[in-house]
Amino acid sequence: MLASMGTLQGAPDHATVSLVGSTGSIGTQAIDVVRASNGRFEVVALAAQSSVDLLAEQARELRPALVAIGDRALAQKVSELVPSGTEVLAGPEGLAEAARVADVVVNGVVGFAGLPVTLAALESGRRLALANKESLIAGAPIVQAARATPGAEIVPVDSEHCALHQCLHSIARPSDVARLLVTASGGPFRGRSLAELGEVTRDDALAHPTWKMGPKITIDSSTLMNKGLEVIEAHELFGIDYDRIDVVVHPQSIVHSMVELVDGATLAQLSVPDMRLPIGYAMGYPERLGVPFGPIDWSKPMELTFESPDLTVFGCVELAYRAGRAGGGAPAWLNAANEVAVAAFLADRIAWLSIAEVVAETLDAYDGAPIGSLEAVLAADRAARVRATAAVERRMR
Ligand code: MG
Repeated sequence: MLASMGTLQGAPDHATVSLVGSTGSIGTQAIDVVRASNGRFEVVALAAQSSVDLLAEQARELRPALVAIGDRALAQKVSELVPSGTEVLAGPEGLAEAARVADVVVNGVVGFAGLPVTLAALESGRRLALANKESLIAGAPIVQAARATPGAEIVPVDSEHCALHQCLHSIARPSDVARLLVTASGGPFRGRSLAELGEVTRDDALAHPTWKMGPKITIDSSTLMNKGLEVIEAHELFGIDYDRIDVVVHPQSIVHSMVELVDGATLAQLSVPDMRLPIGYAMGYPERLGVPFGPIDWSKPMELTFESPDLTVFGCVELAYRAGRAGGGAPAWLNAANEVAVAAFLADRIAWLSIAEVVAETLDAYDGAPIGSLEAVLAADRAARVRATAAVERRMR
């Protein structure tokens, strides 16, 4: 299983970095890491979907050779705002090109749109610092094939998987791993009953207790779909069977995940929630950053609690296990249905409880078509979105 975690690369004193999704939550925190790295990381490419002004501001500070904008209509404006001599590319190919030109590629794109970036980075033999879990989940068969490219490796930015990566790399024998314990904060609705969740609003769901993140992942945290997706992500990253991956609710978000060993010992990684730690780890691995993000103040009293998730309320967890075990295109269907349902909820078109219903109904229609190529993954994604959109329309308020 450790063999599937990618080839260990040397620790470069200097690495070029491409930040794809540079204006989002992960991208802006990655820039903080670059600033703190004292010249170890050099940003050579920046890419964003549509936030032109922030992208241009970042380009003026970091002076990358290449800037890419996903929305083609904005390319002219980007060209006018970035320093002269900067190459400007546009469209999804532009984002993918940005993922080919650096030693380390941070994929902080939101959702399924991150797949071409993941593939471009791996097929170019790059280190992929992966925050975009959706690409690995939905495109698993083709992403795993791309991972075999010489030099290619994935180091997870997702805090739980980054914790698992750290624990697994401290174990001498992979066969000593009994199971992975993926921790979950429980989100803003932990402890609520189904009856209490009928009328929750967008703002209620966006009020995450411990992490500040983008809106899509924050809604996923409120339904625990984020945790379900992370179970699939852990399976794909580390090659561990679903029967040996469990979810544990830990509201303080200090323990970022755990590995239980065959002799009963449990290893864990602890830190105050701060995504700059996993971003810096993934960018610099195996060398640590040298700048502390999220160290714990052990002089203060602190309580760490753990409980099982309420699977009757948070049905998305079981849906994810179901899709993961089915394999093939089922995780792509799960992911697409969830993206459609979350967008509809954020637009106030469906109720929060309908998110899991839309995903369940879509997954029931999964057609089992094989997904051995990018075209087939895109087709699976489209087919699921059609089903999910119909399921949303039946539930519109
Ligand atoms: Mg996470």
